[in-house]
Amino acid sequence: MKSTKKVSNVSDLTSRDRNSIWHHISPYNVKNPPMVVEEGKGSWITDAQGNRYLDGMSGLWCVNVGYGREELALAAYEQIKKLAYAPMTMSHEPAIELAEKVNEMLDDDYMIFYSNSGSDANEVAFKMARQYHRQNGEVDRHKFISRYRAYHGSSMGALSATGQSMRKYKYEPLIQGFLHVSPPDNYRKPDSITEEDYNLQRAEELENTIIWEQKETIAAVIMEPVITGGGVLIPHPIYVEKVQEICHRHGVLLIIDEVICGFGRTGKKFGHQHFGIKPDIVTMAKGLTSAYLPLSITAVRKDIYETFKNGDDTSHFRHVNTFGGNPAACALALKNIEIMEHENLYERSAESGDKLLQGLDDLKNHPFVGNLRGIGMIVGIELVEDKTTKEPASKERLAKIISDCKDNGLIIGKNGDTVAGYNNILTLSPPLSSSEEDVEFMIAVLQKVFSENQS
Ligand code: PMP
Repeated sequence: MKSTKKVSNVSDLTSRDRNSIWHHISPYNVKNPPMVVEEGKGSWITDAQGNRYLDGMSGLWCVNVGYGREELALAAYEQIKKLAYAPMTMSHEPAIELAEKVNEMLDDDYMIFYSNSGSDANEVAFKMARQYHRQNGEVDRHKFISRYRAYHGSSMGALSATGQSMRKYKYEPLIQGFLHVSPPDNYRKPDSITEEDYNLQRAEELENTIIWEQKETIAAVIMEPVITGGGVLIPHPIYVEKVQEICHRHGVLLIIDEVICGFGRTGKKFGHQHFGIKPDIVTMAKGLTSAYLPLSITAVRKDIYETFKNGDDTSHFRHVNTFGGNPAACALALKNIEIMEHENLYERSAESGDKLLQGLDDLKNHPFVGNLRGIGMIVGIELVEDKTTKEPASKERLAKIISDCKDNGLIIGKNGDTVAGYNNILTLSPPLSSSEEDVEFMIAVLQKVFSENQS
């Protein structure tokens, strides 16, 4: 997809970028300046030189309906003309309609709290959980349990819940009271036990942590239905059901982080709907607006909300943010959900994801592919140096495949946790709206690149 178009201002843009932008989580690599992106349409983006790439990561797992949707631009435009802003101490129709719509999708009765980002939504969940227990007389319930390898955001609370130490250690001390347990990693389970037993053991580790830490001190467990950025770790359903049962039995709230898994990414409206559970709190962002505008939600079970309503001035939730529930973002989110429904994107995500996995199945025979896994439009390709020892593949091997894919017009990701040694999982998370040709293109590029990288 390389273009020969000569754009005179590209190097100028790059040097101006270098002088003024501190990029997110990127090494200061002088040889490899960040791509200056100019346009996006469908699953494809175009850089300032005119090179086109299929965005196999939908940005940061978020542009679920693809780029360039005029209806979304119009929805925001019309709303800004009518009412550009109202704080969430007031109300407006797009926020009300969106709250009702999200409840319909959750198939239950939740109260909707608006914020701006996934990290925000998780911070809100933590504060609500602590206050909830406190006003129920369980004043010691302040600790949270999450899983190693999971990512829950970059602000101090969400980072404390995150289980990837490479992202954390330079910013310590973080917030007290965040504990971590191992997630199920079915590829790396011991051969001697079944997947079901292994997943039950991981749930048992969680229960032991609750008990050993004193259950009266645990406020909530937070987890993604499927660990995404931590390396695409898909649990056996028995694990998720068991975690819910353990939480209920010990009076611990279950917060499900749907920031990536929500809005069709896993082939259902929400990832937890694969497991038939009813979370106490659900957090969502990214796919809610397909990232066209910032917006996030913390959805809280109504009976939890009721305990904040006893009429006493000290019982309300003392949290506000300026931009949460912005009218244009809400109007755009409603249109985004309408597009998903109209184009059957939840079902298409499941079908296209299956096609991707089937098309990539041969890669399992490749000498460095230890495991191929996926759910909906999420694929993880775990690279190893040795299939028997499962030693994670070298950084250089991953970098070469990513760069060769890019040279062939496909952007893919790399995820995992460097400190844990498992930063060896290549990821795909393309727009749910990707066409059949797009899916075939991704398969063809990966097949070609892997066949050219046999040693
Ligand atoms: N939770 C999960 C599971 C995420 O993947 C992310 C972001 N990648 C977040 C929370 C934080 O979202 P944000 O970057 O919008 O703060």
